[in-house]
Amino acid sequence: MKVHFVGAGPGAADLITVRGMRLLQNAGMIIYAGSLVNPELLNYAPPGCEVRDSASMTLDEVINAIKDGHGRGLSVVRLHSGDPSLYGAVREQMDRLKALGVPLEVVPGVSSFCAAAAALNAEYTLPGVSQTLIITRMEGRTPVPERESVQKLAVHGASMALFLSAGMLKELCAALIEGGYRPETPAALVYKASWPEQKILRGTLDNLPGQAEAANIRKTALVLAGDFLGDEYELSKLYDASFGHGFRDARQLLDRGD
Ligand code: SAH
Repeated sequence: MKVHFVGAGPGAADLITVRGMRLLQNAGMIIYAGSLVNPELLNYAPPGCEVRDSASMTLDEVINAIKDGHGRGLSVVRLHSGDPSLYGAVREQMDRLKALGVPLEVVPGVSSFCAAAAALNAEYTLPGVSQTLIITRMEGRTPVPERESVQKLAVHGASMALFLSAGMLKELCAALIEGGYRPETPAALVYKASWPEQKILRGTLDNLPGQAEAANIRKTALVLAGDFLGDEYELSKLYDASFGHGFRDARQLLDRGD
C-alpha cells in the first residue's frame, strides 16, 4: 500500500481536494503538520485511526512513524498544509522513504497563496500590469540563495507572494522598496486565509508594517505586493470580442456583413 503525502489546503476543512478527503476517510494513520493544518480536517478520519502531530517530531521520528504504520499494513496519510511542494520540507521525507523502499504518492492541495488571492478578489496575472507571480520568502533560519534575495527579485516589479516573512514585515517592505518597488505600491497581508479568524490588511509597502504591528500579526500570514492589487489594468484578450482564439472566432469579423 502506498503512503500518501496530502495537501490539506489553506485551512478551511472543505478546501482539501476530494481525493485528499477520501484518503483521510480511509486512513489507518494520519501524521499531520499541527502548526498549520486545521485540526478540523481530522474529523474526516475514521474511528480508530491513529493520529499524530508532527509539530514536535524530528525528521527521523516522522520517518519511523510512517515506516511503522506502513509496515503494519495501515493506509498512512502524511498531511501537509497548503500544497506540499511549497515550503513543506517534503523532499527529504520522500527521499528517505524511497531509500527504505516505501512507495508513496503525492496529492496536491490548494496553496495559501491561492486562498489569499481569493480572499482579496485579486488576480496575480493582470493584463497590462504583470504576467508573472514570484513566490518567495525572506531569509530566516533557512537561508535563501543570494541571487534570490528579495531586493534582486523586486527588480522585476512583478506580482509577489511572500511566505514565512510576516514576522519581518518592516525589513521585507524596505527590501522590496530598495529593490525597485515604489513605496506606494499596493500591498496586503492576509492572516489565516480561509480560516474563520482570517484577517485582511490592505495598504502600501510604506504603511503595511505599521498596520500589521497595530493588528499584532506576525505569523501564519502571507504578504502580497505589486500593482496587481491596484485599480489599473487592461481588459483581457481572452474575452475581448475582437480577439479570436481556438474556442471562439473574432466576433467583430463574424458580425461584419451579417
Ligand atoms: N505549503 C504551504 C506553505 C507552508 S509554509 C502552502 O502551500 O500554503 C508556512 C507559511 O505559509 C506561513 O508562514 C504563511 O506565510 C503561509 N501560510 C500557510 N497557510 C496560510 C494561510 N491560511 N493564510 C496565510 N498564510 C498562510
